Formats: sequence, C-alpha cells, structure tokens
Amino acid sequence: MSHWQELERRYYLQVARRLPVTLVRGQGARVWDDTGKEYLDFVAGWAVNNLGHCHPAVVEAIAEQARTLIHTSNQFYTIPQVQLAQLLVENSVFDRVFFCNSGAEANEGAVKLARKYGRLRRNGAYEVITTLNSFHGRTLAMVAATGKPHYQEPFRPLPPGFVNVPFNSLEAIQQATTDRTCAVMLELIQGEGGVYEADPEYVRGVSRWCREQGLLFIVDEVQTGIGRTGTLFAYEQYGVEPDVMTLAKGLGGGVPIGAFLVKEEAAVLEPGDHGSTFGGNPLACAAGLATLKYVIENDIPAKAARVGAYLKARLNDLRSRYEWVTEVRGRGLLLAVQFDREVSERVVLGCLEAGLLVNGVTPSAIRLMPPLIITEAEADQAVAILDSVLARVGASG
Ligand SMILES: *Cc1c(COP(=O)(O)O)cnc(C)c1O
Repeated sequence: MSHWQELERRYYLQVARRLPVTLVRGQGARVWDDTGKEYLDFVAGWAVNNLGHCHPAVVEAIAEQARTLIHTSNQFYTIPQVQLAQLLVENSVFDRVFFCNSGAEANEGAVKLARKYGRLRRNGAYEVITTLNSFHGRTLAMVAATGKPHYQEPFRPLPPGFVNVPFNSLEAIQQATTDRTCAVMLELIQGEGGVYEADPEYVRGVSRWCREQGLLFIVDEVQTGIGRTGTLFAYEQYGVEPDVMTLAKGLGGGVPIGAFLVKEEAAVLEPGDHGSTFGGNPLACAAGLATLKYVIENDIPAKAARVGAYLKARLNDLRSRYEWVTEVRGRGLLLAVQFDREVSERVVLGCLEAGLLVNGVTPSAIRLMPPLIITEAEADQAVAILDSVLARVGASG
C-alpha cells in the first residue's frame, strides 16, 4: 500500500470502496497515478469530466474567475450565475434555474418545489413517485427517493413522502397515484442502477399521465445531462417536455455544481423558500458557463452520439465473440456491458492493470462513461484492452 493510501486508511472515514491507485494528474481522456502509470479514463469521475480532464476552456475560466471574485453571498447579483442561468434556459424547455452544489441537493430542491406545488395546486399533496433501482443521491430524503433497499435499511426511519414503484411500468405509476401524489421523478436512463433505459413509450405515457393528473413530471438528468446521451439533455430524445429537470455531474467541468430548472407555470418557490450559501457562486458558475458554452458551440452532444454509436458497435463485436457477454446497452457515451456471471470486479481490476478505468456498476455488469471528447482511436484502444481482459477472465472460468 502506498504512503497516501496508508494515510487515507488512518484518517478518512472508510465509506469509499477505492481501487488501489492514487491519481495525481489528468489531461483529456487520460489520467496518471503517483508512479507515473497512465490510464485511459472511461469513468470520468462518474460522468463528470464531459470535456475530459483539465480542458483549457474550463481551466482558463476558473483561473480568471479565481483572480476576480471567488465567492459572495446570494444577497448580491453576480454575473457568471446570471450568464449560466440564461444559457441553460435558452438551450432547454425550462424558464428558470436554481443553482446548488450537487445532484442530491438539486433533487432535494426539486422535491421541495413539488411539495409546495402540491400544497398550492393539489390540495396539500406531497408524495413523490420514484422507481425501484433508481439513484437520486445520498441525503436522507434522496435515500428515501432512491428505490434501493440496501441504501435505505441502515438509515431508517426515512423521511416520508416517497413511493418506489417498478421501472418502465406506467401502470405501476398509475396505480400508485393518489390524492397525496404531487410529482413523478424519473431517470431517463438509470445510470447507477446499471444503465437501464426508459422505454420511449413509457416516458411519453408518464408525461401524459402527469399532465392529466396535475402532477409535476421531474426528470433527474444529473447523469444523463450535458451531452452524455447524444443530445444536450436526454429528454430531447423522447419528445416530452418535463416540468422540472435536475442537473449536476457534467455541468461544471469537474467543479461541484448542481441545478434544477423549472417551467414558469410550476415555478412556485418564492423569496425565503429555498437557498444555498455556495449555490451559484461565481467560481462554480464560471466553470459551468465555460463548460456549457464549449459543449454547445462545438456540438459535443453530436460527437458523443457518433463516437458512442461507434463504441457500442465495437462492444457488440466483443459480445458476439464471448458467449458469456450477453448485452451492450445504453446510448451516447453512457453504456454498459452485461455478463452472464458475476465477474465485473475481475474485469475492472484486469482493466486497471492494463491501463483502462471502467466501473463495475453491478456484480455482473460494467459501465463505460468516458469524456465526451474521446476519439474513435481511444474507443478502439479501450475495446482492445477490454478484449484482452475478457479473454483472460473467460479462460479462467
Ligand atoms: C450521481 C447522481 C445523483 C447524485 O449526485 P451527487 O452529486 O452525488 O449528490 C443523483 N441522481 C443521479 C441520476 C445521479 O447519477
């Protein structure tokens, strides 16, 4: 174990399952550890580094803003916050933005908004329907929203007001809807759950149901947003207009920032209802503005769609050669490779050894979510490494 890993063991709360690597530097789709070893990064800090590591546009914006104004309170107007809000509104179906610091916090804000909406417009309704196998974050309320018993059990009692129903079943949502329901909150692709896509028919059905019943339709695009799935936001591919969308991961180019966006008709929060000390601070918003501008001006979502389709095809070539590789799923650059056995840990460690970072998203599937700026050559390199690792893992049964 290295010096840094020993110190971590001594001083840090032991909640992360870390790989035995200390990363010290990144550039583009590559990172280096403290021994100088290079890795192709197909995890990208959990789908955060959409422009890769240390993209010059982001680095310069952060350095410039750090020299100018890092933080002030939301009692005052600040320019990067307003600019980033405008850019998000102009490039989405939403009218207003609130900035916070993480995905969980963005979802918390969306749920507060939904409860106030229920209070004003639906006789005090407060319940939010979410799906099993979802992921909405780690705060107490978002653990209740996240339909995964192993995240919930140790922390009971959980805040009331959440109902978890099976994913991809409109009927389950319809049956769970009562006078208490104020909103439905969905991921369009369950990322952390294993890269399971919502059926387009289901998404349209949920949107219609919410409209008919007067419920808010909230999409959690914390992982799918900012070009990851091949459009700036994933909802664009389903022909729906949600009432609320949450963002975080890819928005700040690696700097912590979260946001929720809402349509004017649903923007029921008023002065004093919500806030955040750091939320929307100039440094985070300057990073977000530089990231989003670059993503839009260089049509990074289209690049993600193209190289994502290419990578998916190459992964399907692998699938056709290993009978125990059963499925490749996902869209854009949010992909998973499914095995018929629980080998993802061995695959992850084999790839790590060979210089490729991937995520073991379930015991029997790996998730690939590289920076959106990867080239076909980098996709080929990752597939070649994965091929050699699968050959070894397959041979040992
Ligand atoms: C990662 C994630 C979250 C939580 O984001 P944090 O920034 O870790 O709080 C919420 N929703 C989805 C869909 C995510 O992928």
